[in-house]
Amino acid sequence: NQGGVNKSGINWFPGHMAKARREISERMKVIDIVIELVDSRAPYSSKNPMLNDIINQKPRLIVLTKKDMSDDEKTKQWVHYYESIGYQAMSVNLKNFNEYQKIIEKCRKVLKPKMDKEKARGIKPRAIRAMVLGIPNVGKSTFINKLANRKATVTGNKPGVTKAQQIIRVAKDFELFDTPGVLWPKFEDEHIARNIALLGSIKQDILPLDDLFVYVMTYLTKYYPDLLKERYGLEIDLDDSDWLLKAFDHIAQKRKIKLLRGETDYDRVIQLVFSEIYDGSIGKVTWEDYTCVKD
Ligand code: GDP
Repeated sequence: NQGGVNKSGINWFPGHMAKARREISERMKVIDIVIELVDSRAPYSSKNPMLNDIINQKPRLIVLTKKDMSDDEKTKQWVHYYESIGYQAMSVNLKNFNEYQKIIEKCRKVLKPKMDKEKARGIKPRAIRAMVLGIPNVGKSTFINKLANRKATVTGNKPGVTKAQQIIRVAKDFELFDTPGVLWPKFEDEHIARNIALLGSIKQDILPLDDLFVYVMTYLTKYYPDLLKERYGLEIDLDDSDWLLKAFDHIAQKRKIKLLRGETDYDRVIQLVFSEIYDGSIGKVTWEDYTCVKD
């Protein structure tokens, strides 16, 4: 793994990765369950490639965040997919408070056999201890801050975990590390890097933005033509060799983007469309299908 740089300002070099890995492994000793956050718009690409090695056999709950921004049907399929390969999984909108109780409830359920066993062996009942893990921008700080009842993010997106970590009691029977484990995204695979780029949070200059734009327009035309119609009044015929230029002109006119030296301002159109993809105003889109998973 050669590491990489992302917009969050992290340089993921092998040294950082090794450190993150070491610190997270250290924490594993005292936790009962890992809550792995992934982005529901790309539930495979936003997973860390080495998590299985790092957390070994610990019980794990995969939480697909930002379900308010992704395709409901696809999200359901992804949850089923992860369940079908033996994980606990659920999807949430972390901006909605009710979701947190559901997550805690699910952790309790996963750990009930373990807790019952401890009880049967005469061990005093204790709180479940969880840790939140994930690549940058999947919602880790939102999650922890909400449960810890605090406003500001204390962690930032530093590789690994911060030193002054505390365990916070969230419920009588549920405790959480107050800093998340920050993991690196997959850098190797071009498709994955592209999907991560489409989430808008981690910039990877894997493709020039205009190539990414062509990809996005083609993808949306194939899978979400209604969104293009609703958002931009745009219908694309991919068999028309001029479809791209026509799409640019159409969006520019529709959104009243000023001409640049008498021509459509392509950069402004690209920026507009990407900002609407990143903030979700384009509509609910998922960028990958569970059938893409190779390993
Ligand atoms: P972290 O880097 O993993 O700690 O991610 P953050 O908690 O900082 O979240 C990144 C961004 O995603 C923030 O702007 C959050 O408000 C937003 N966010 C997190 N979860 C959700 C969600 O479920 N839905 C939506 N719409 N936004 C979310």
